[in-house]
Amino acid sequence: MKAIEGRLVTPQGVRPGRVLIEHGRIAAVDDLTTPVPPGVPVVAARDAYVLPGLIDPHVHFRTPGLTHKEDWGHGSRAAVAGGVTTVMDMPNTRPASFTAKALIDKAALIEGRSLVDFAFHIGVDPEHPEALADLDTGTARSAKIFMAGHHTAPAVLSDPAALDTAFAAAARSGVRVVLHAEDGGLFDLLDAWWGEPGGYRDYEARRPRTGGIAAVAKVIELVRRHGTAAHVLHLSSAEEADLVCAAQAAGLPVTFELTGHHLSFTDADTCRVGARTRLAPAIRGVRDQDRLWRAVFGEQAATLGSDHAPHTVAEKTRSVADSPPGLPGVQELATAVWTGMRRRAPEEDADAAIGRLVRLMASGPADLFGLPGKGRITPGADADLVLFAPDDTWMFSAAQVRSKCGWSAYEGWTMTGRVRRTFRRGEQVFDAATGAYGAPDGAWLR
Ligand SMILES: [Zn+2]
Repeated sequence: MKAIEGRLVTPQGVRPGRVLIEHGRIAAVDDLTTPVPPGVPVVAARDAYVLPGLIDPHVHFRTPGLTHKEDWGHGSRAAVAGGVTTVMDMPNTRPASFTAKALIDKAALIEGRSLVDFAFHIGVDPEHPEALADLDTGTARSAKIFMAGHHTAPAVLSDPAALDTAFAAAARSGVRVVLHAEDGGLFDLLDAWWGEPGGYRDYEARRPRTGGIAAVAKVIELVRRHGTAAHVLHLSSAEEADLVCAAQAAGLPVTFELTGHHLSFTDADTCRVGARTRLAPAIRGVRDQDRLWRAVFGEQAATLGSDHAPHTVAEKTRSVADSPPGLPGVQELATAVWTGMRRRAPEEDADAAIGRLVRLMASGPADLFGLPGKGRITPGADADLVLFAPDDTWMFSAAQVRSKCGWSAYEGWTMTGRVRRTFRRGEQVFDAATGAYGAPDGAWLR
């Protein structure tokens, strides 16, 4: 048995307390009036919050086939350094994870290399969208549909009949679809008309909000027709946020994710930093960023995700047209969002703010994707715990990047809040003071 003390962020609110851990689970949660049982070691961090281990439901750890960009060793080290103890990995690897067999093979490659627990989104094969009807929800709780493609996402489902089949099949098996909802056909039209982008100032105009709005409208129509549960990933514009909120208010089972980068950067940053924030969907303007932050403060978003999608420096520094979209972000996500929340509402009670972050990054994704034992500090749950110092101010530099790619769009940022230690199933997997990691024995949640 061991004990961790601090300001516990629980479903009932924030209070000073102690978590008692036994066999990797939370044995008890108590206040500090009772003595610690004799012989039990205590980690005391009275000035820090104790958060439930955070969940990043949107990472690309690049295994198999793209491990020159990222691998589970590096990706999971970046995760625990950012307070994340569970990730959900995307299927656009090489080969793509279109079948239960592919996921079992992927899990075998990860075995013994991951500091975090993990689950998978299965890919939807454009040739066989009907296969979703027979999906074994033990291997994947959700299925990823790309409505637009790019360098590392070649398998696109854009044909209206195929999309209709996929939504109908997912509704039959009760599988949630998660979507890259942009209209790739519109982008192809624009590319043919505009020609090659001359620089990063032109990038957003070639991947405009129109593509997202058209695709989100299509998703809402399909959800209305079939009743499929749909989660729109990395929403980028004010209009898309309004559309999904309106559909939700009308009773449709549609939710959305926001990323750290769409909350942290604007198209002005893309002009300045270029390829680092060349993303799909593109980073948009201040008006959009403000709307997305309203969806954070009002908890209209169901989850936050990093869309951790590293590329090498050599790949990122190709020409504007050829530089692949994506950035590393699992390490930066919670701290960047906390930094943004504190800057935008400095007068807000910190306990109220941290409660929101935990709902968006722990209990929210655990409930949406059905991850039992995750996302809450409560007796019986897995002892995934993070010591987070909310007022630490520090500079994020390239030297701190744990991703294999070695760079970050957040280099030079002054961060507020810092992960001090991360525990997964009661074992310490990260200590910021020493830089030490724990055992890479993270488990597949199936
Ligand atoms: Zn992604």
